[in-house]
Amino acid sequence: MKIAVLPGDGIGVEVTAQAVKVVRAVIGNTRPCEITEAPIGAAGVAVSGAPLPPETLELARGADAILFGAVGGPADEIPDRRKRPGAGLLKLRKSLGLFANFRPAFLFPELIGASTLRPEIVSGLDLMILRELNGDLYFGEPRGVTRDADGKRVGINTMRYTEDEIARIAHVGFQTARARRGKLCSVDKANVLETMQLWREVVIEVAAQYPDVALTHLYVDAAAMQLLRDPRQFDVIVTGNMFGDILSDAAAMLTGSIGMLPSASLGTGHRGLYEPVHGSAPDIAGRDIANPLAAILSAAMMFRLSFDWPQAADRIEAAVRAVLADGLRTADIHQPGTQKIGTEAMGDAVVAALRRMA
Ligand code: NAD
Repeated sequence: MKIAVLPGDGIGVEVTAQAVKVVRAVIGNTRPCEITEAPIGAAGVAVSGAPLPPETLELARGADAILFGAVGGPADEIPDRRKRPGAGLLKLRKSLGLFANFRPAFLFPELIGASTLRPEIVSGLDLMILRELNGDLYFGEPRGVTRDADGKRVGINTMRYTEDEIARIAHVGFQTARARRGKLCSVDKANVLETMQLWREVVIEVAAQYPDVALTHLYVDAAAMQLLRDPRQFDVIVTGNMFGDILSDAAAMLTGSIGMLPSASLGTGHRGLYEPVHGSAPDIAGRDIANPLAAILSAAMMFRLSFDWPQAADRIEAAVRAVLADGLRTADIHQPGTQKIGTEAMGDAVVAALRRMA
């Protein structure tokens, strides 16, 4: 197992260190494993002048799986967009053809009080947001800020999807739904945007191959409302890059904290990039208070999806549950009656729980 570890910036460094600790504990001496670290984001710019140094990209290309932290920080605003930390992640996803982003939103029963929604709304929540990752406004051309004939500034981004890109993510959506509860909701804005009209048409065409999956459609504004009104109606949501970005952060709050949400990005093979949904959180970086559980749960997804080792994933998830059941909480999910601990201590507690269960 070749694992590339790209911690990135801010709390990315802190939470990834905990995930690596857990990965090493799970593997132990059972299988050969090579774990190599490399810089990305502002850390990449610092060492090589580029947010995705060529050596980092090479390492990622040669790896079976990539454990990624987060990128971003003060350098977000530099004028050259290609040198911003976030550009490194976008380029990495695109270069490796990672087009399918899986973002499960699962509520651990122990955290039911940490959600901002009432327990009867979120209890038993278990949904999957599948976000297309290689197209849409994030990559469409033309883009940029130009001047119009009167010299006024004009900002331009282009929403663009080819039918093949839509069909590819739709297939993943149907297959994911098939392996879960058999329900797929496609989210678009077909009433206003031509690109999204095409999205809906293609999803309906692909649906013919999956008669066993119940397909529904929602406009993104209605989907946002339904996600908060009755999130348990959803099994799998498939949507584009932009809408998926926003809806998955909203879904994060259903589970109590963005610090609890893992994600996986896959292409056509088994190689995947595994990362917490959250960013580099400069407001809390370097203080040992970030929640590392999203990063640790991302590592669990790595064992399940890239290494076909579901038992390892199950063990990590059970260890996280055990730690929560013991009442241990980082600040973001802390409630009266539970014990507040730091990032490192949370990583150690998960490792200890793993060892107890071994
Ligand atoms: P963020 O996710 O970093 O933080 C949002 C809020 O959630 C903050 O208040 C933060 O303290 C809190 N938070 C996030 N993760 C947490 C954790 N593990 N434990 C406890 N609290 C946590 O989003 P932001 O503030 O919008 O962005 C900060 C930087 O991160 C920006 O530079 C942005 O571009 C970048 N970013 C990177 C990624 C990525 O690398 N995939 C994703 C989102 C944002």
